Amino acid sequence: MHISEIYKSIYRYWDDTTPLYGDCGKLCGKACCESDETDEDETGMYLFPGEEKLFKEDKNFRVVSSDFSYGDGKIADIAICKGPCQRDLRPLSCRIFPLIPYYKNGKLTVIQDPRAKHMCPLAQKKALSYLDPAFIRKTEQTFRLLLRFSEVRSFLMGLTEILDDCLKFDPTEDLI
Ligand code: SF4
Ligand code: SF4
Repeated sequence: MHISEIYKSIYRYWDDTTPLYGDCGKLCGKACCESDETDEDETGMYLFPGEEKLFKEDKNFRVVSSDFSYGDGKIADIAICKGPCQRDLRPLSCRIFPLIPYYKNGKLTVIQDPRAKHMCPLAQKKALSYLDPAFIRKTEQTFRLLLRFSEVRSFLMGLTEILDDCLKFDPTEDLI
């Protein structure tokens, strides 16, 4: 089975699980989904290894290479969303935001993404207790499954180095 099939199963497992019971977009005007293709600073979401296969032919996304390399020099892809959102087909990064896997010394945890603090109210430390426990659990379970793939392990180790750089500026970040 190709790993892209695993992602399809993961999407089904997530169903419509979101960070809060309600619509958190009302807190912030859906800040994490704002993207302007005419903007030179347009941003996207990392695709996890093998996930790009699901989005390269999807007209709602543009898949481009990022400047993040991991493992033996593999380049991570980014999906730039053109919207409108197809909830059941959104990338894993969209589903877990603002949580992120943190993988170090063979140990997996999930944390609030320090890179999200400038935009997401739910990435603030005090918001942790408001997150839906199912949302936290599914994030952790998803990456426990994906860690079976060596490329995902390499990706997460590289990603954790990026997170560590961010956490140097905020060493009070809590691991969940
Ligand atoms: S920025 Fe945070 S609070 Fe706002 S829609 Fe995205 S996840 Fe929800
Ligand atoms: S796919 Fe949906 S959740 Fe993800 S950035 Fe686009 S609009 Fe937002």
